[in-house]
Amino acid sequence: MEKQIYKNRKIVLLTKHKKEEAIRPVIEKATGCSLIVESRFDTDKFGTFSRDITRTKSQLETARLKIKEGMLLSGLDIGIASEGSFGSHPFIPAPWNIELVLLFDQRENFELYGIHESGETNFAQLATASFDEAVSFAKKIGFPEHFFIIRPDDSESEQIIKGINNYDWLKEAFVWCGLNSHSGKVFMETDLRAHANPTRMHNIKKATEDLISKLHSFCPNCMAPGFIVSERVKGLPCDLCGLPSDLVLKNISKCRKCSHVLEQLYPNGQFAAAQYCHFCNP
Ligand SMILES: [Zn+2]
Ligand SMILES: [Zn+2]
Repeated sequence: MEKQIYKNRKIVLLTKHKKEEAIRPVIEKATGCSLIVESRFDTDKFGTFSRDITRTKSQLETARLKIKEGMLLSGLDIGIASEGSFGSHPFIPAPWNIELVLLFDQRENFELYGIHESGETNFAQLATASFDEAVSFAKKIGFPEHFFIIRPDDSESEQIIKGINNYDWLKEAFVWCGLNSHSGKVFMETDLRAHANPTRMHNIKKATEDLISKLHSFCPNCMAPGFIVSERVKGLPCDLCGLPSDLVLKNISKCRKCSHVLEQLYPNGQFAAAQYCHFCNP
């Protein structure tokens, strides 16, 4: 039986891209809350994936702003927000999606977020003059369930057509962009807004599940939710020479409410393999 920690409480979600489809089933079941959708604010003001509006704040800061707006408009004292980012994997040349789902409970002055990082994304772009090429690209990214954004020339053109979700419209928009293009090429990219991209919607759900698993970690002393590891102390001894390595020696969790501290020694085993040792394997 899951703890219904937000039973009888309404949580506001500010979105105009149907993010409630990913968030509502998870959070309502896990916490007993009712999710209230607030769409009277244009969240695109905080930045768009299609670069027509640049996001000036970090992913976390932007999620905080969305919660603030949502609470202001709804008058509720607890809010949730989702903010995604797309780019390249930090080490390998592959597309990468990071989804963050943030919860803020003003009554308790308590903030907690869930994260999901994934290479499961169809984040992709193509510049082409050939409609045949456009169609094979469309098949590759999962069109029309996943929508397109297209424009003339290149990624910076200000003439943007968003939310293209059928082949007739794609053809029409492609021809229009071709006629309005200096280079003859049309720039196409996956529409990454949640309602336009089921793959992203799935990743938002995963981030919500991560939030719930953190929320459902309770302080053993006072039972406050969100009792998670706040510090990882390095220095696990090398199994060859015994000197400290960069691997984790212990995890420390501290309760934000009662300050109870829990130390977990050797969360990943008692020794580090010599390959992680600065002395044995410099
Ligand atoms: Zn506590
Ligand atoms: Zn060593």
